[in-house]
Amino acid sequence: MPDDSPVQDRAEVTEAGEPARLRGRRCGGCAVTAYPADGACPRCGRATSAVTLSAEGRLWTWTVQRFAPKAPPYAPPAEGFRPFAVGYVELPEGVRVAAVLDTDDFDSIRIGMPVRIGPTGGVPRAVPVEETP
Ligand SMILES: [Zn+2]
Repeated sequence: MPDDSPVQDRAEVTEAGEPARLRGRRCGGCAVTAYPADGACPRCGRATSAVTLSAEGRLWTWTVQRFAPKAPPYAPPAEGFRPFAVGYVELPEGVRVAAVLDTDDFDSIRIGMPVRIGPTGGVPRAVPVEETP
């Protein structure tokens, strides 16, 4: 069923007892999933409908932001800027989402590692999760 609700960039949904999850859009024609949400498919231009994205994915690539981004929109913390990791998380839906990586242990970050991703009101944040054997 098509979702005619207004498209909201970085929208999120929360189900009872579950952490908030990102909401993207899926094309009704070619099934491409997009995030941030867009009312038109980036591949074929047809209409999209809302889809709740997976909470876990894999780190596709990453780097360390070693200087403060331009403010605004960046808002430095009260204690001042500290380098932080950023990357793209590839979700099972086939979409890659830019996210801040919530870890200070940069040496532990690996491409392909499993991460849990969620909305924060701004840039999504991802945390490493334990690999299940
Ligand atoms: Zn499409």
